[in-house]
Amino acid sequence: MIPVRDDLRALDGYHSAQVDVEVRLNTNESPFPPPAGFADAVASEISRIDWNRYPDRAALALRTDIADMHGVDPAQVFVANGSNEVLQTVLLAYAGPGRTVATFEPTYQMHAQIARVTGATVVEGERGLDFTLDPAEVDRVLTVHRPHVVFLTSPNNPTGLVEPRERVEQLLASAPGLVVVDEAYAQFSDWSALDMVDESRPLVVTRTFSKTWSMAGARLGYLVGPTWLVAELDKVVLPYHLDAVKQLSGRIALRFADDMNERVALLVSERDRISAGLRALPIDVFDSGANFVLFRPTDVAGGTVWQQLVDRSILVRDCSGWPRLENCLRVTIGTPDENDRFLTAIADILKA
Ligand SMILES: *Cc1c(COP(=O)(O)O)cnc(C)c1O
Repeated sequence: MIPVRDDLRALDGYHSAQVDVEVRLNTNESPFPPPAGFADAVASEISRIDWNRYPDRAALALRTDIADMHGVDPAQVFVANGSNEVLQTVLLAYAGPGRTVATFEPTYQMHAQIARVTGATVVEGERGLDFTLDPAEVDRVLTVHRPHVVFLTSPNNPTGLVEPRERVEQLLASAPGLVVVDEAYAQFSDWSALDMVDESRPLVVTRTFSKTWSMAGARLGYLVGPTWLVAELDKVVLPYHLDAVKQLSGRIALRFADDMNERVALLVSERDRISAGLRALPIDVFDSGANFVLFRPTDVAGGTVWQQLVDRSILVRDCSGWPRLENCLRVTIGTPDENDRFLTAIADILKA
């Protein structure tokens, strides 16, 4: 064996336990396949791909379709292989060795993980016990550490909390560097920072096709930000990183926006049903603006509840051993039938 980079030695990979079960409610994907017409359209248009040619390097048609959906300029859109690659490209361009990245914990683990892998120093701000973010803590982190990049996830993962608009305004007013608002779940909540993006502000908003668009299998994500920033990202990213099939399927998905909105509405009403069902049990339930709910059983250890759900062939995310999330579990909203099974099982477990 040869030694890996010194700064990577202490690093753990990103893990999500995969267990063979009937009901998978652990990774926040859509429980529904894309609309029937989507697969047919992809199949027919794939036959026209010039396989011997490189794809459109700038993915201009896809960028244009995304820009049209949000009413922005295509030059304000950067697309990559999942929003994780969007985040990685942002960090390669604006963080890296000698620079500092700030997160507010607990939050999406990949922000700190990708920042460290790309050589930056990570500073962790702290949320309160209810997972809200105190403006004084935001001030402290910005003043003491002067981060080159600061992340805010809204709705937050794994807590589900929607950040108030004032928190983004505060970051924009006082951050010395780039502000990244990760909106992987924004369609499930009631507001978005997209309308705050402007040429004069160091703000980007990231989105993904993995959750709302039923397309986790395609690996597609994007950001909307100032054109000068998108131009820098285009210099950093590998040439032809978006293959022709992906560009095509992303564009086709956008034709089905109405179907997607219907699914979002159903998942939101199911989320509220699950939250209410859990609140009727000895469980602390955190308000969620996403397609999942974080909860903490009060009388039984979280890890025990997780195992007993697995015994009933239901898999949720076990956050009970994560820092700041003692005893917490996170359930992704599934189909109404899956949600019924989950609610029946957990009532059964906590009654016994
Ligand atoms: C799931 C998730 C992503 C992921 O995205 P991909 O587009 O699948 O890479 C990004 N951010 C948050 C907060 C997520 O929960």
